[in-house]
Amino acid sequence: MADMKIVFLGTSAAIPTQRRGLSSIVIKREGELLIFDVGEGMQRNFLQAKLGINKKMKVFITHLHIDHCLGLLGFFQTMSLLGRTKKIDIYGEPRLREFLNENFRIINIGLSFEITIHIIDKEGIIINEQDYQVSCCRADHSVPAFSFCIKEHPRPGIFNIDKAIELSIPKGGMYRRLQNGEDVIVDGKLIKSNEIVGPKRRGRKIGISGDTRPSLKLRNFFDSCDILIFESTYNQDYQEKAIETFHSTSAEAALLAKESNSNKLILTHFSSRYSDATILLNEARTIHNDVDFAEDMKTFHIPYTE
Ligand SMILES: [Zn+2]
Ligand SMILES: [Zn+2]
Repeated sequence: MADMKIVFLGTSAAIPTQRRGLSSIVIKREGELLIFDVGEGMQRNFLQAKLGINKKMKVFITHLHIDHCLGLLGFFQTMSLLGRTKKIDIYGEPRLREFLNENFRIINIGLSFEITIHIIDKEGIIINEQDYQVSCCRADHSVPAFSFCIKEHPRPGIFNIDKAIELSIPKGGMYRRLQNGEDVIVDGKLIKSNEIVGPKRRGRKIGISGDTRPSLKLRNFFDSCDILIFESTYNQDYQEKAIETFHSTSAEAALLAKESNSNKLILTHFSSRYSDATILLNEARTIHNDVDFAEDMKTFHIPYTE
């Protein structure tokens, strides 16, 4: 059982407002932080959320618009001043390397930890860890941009302890082998793993749109997400503007969530014209039955469905 939660650090589009900082989303899974976008000043909420400056960390930059990447330098400097020692892996499109290296050269920032830049130049799986994978898909925005999915590998099925006792299977190694799908022999009798262990249980899947128009490609990419975090810069009254600026409306986000069979939709990245996101929420709720909206510092726990 791995604890998993989403913490929104910045939820405004383009311009920060009194209540909303620029884009940044953290997914905390066990002891690791997966950070999606680092808008300016994001470290303020990062510290306040007590996420830990020396945690294992991967940073993903959806695209190189200022409100999604300009916070990187300040964030790195803050962690360095607070004594971070662990390496950070950062992922983004090819110009991310240029952006960071040029800035490091000019500012001559001396960091207390290493940074490894991973360039994403094609779609597909970019990280395959023991428990989960991260994949990316091209978004439909005014500059090269990616959407991301985190998907946990299936977990082993439920171990039927009563049955194991009934069949006099010795505890310890045999239990472990059965749990791992191996058959065992007890007193000359073959016991199959699937007699004791139930079917594998699906892991959780979280989708993060970044900035984008809705697209068929994203609808397929986000298939059956437990939680889909989708940008909702405008409401439907501004659909023309959304098309013009390569963003989405809350109704479009909700339709994509519904058509991709995503369980829950969380709206974020709101235009500064909305001091209250209720109008966006209500619009999306006419289309999808489980919608919420992000606020800075709001946390969503992600339970297992199986
Ligand atoms: Zn944006
Ligand atoms: Zn953008």
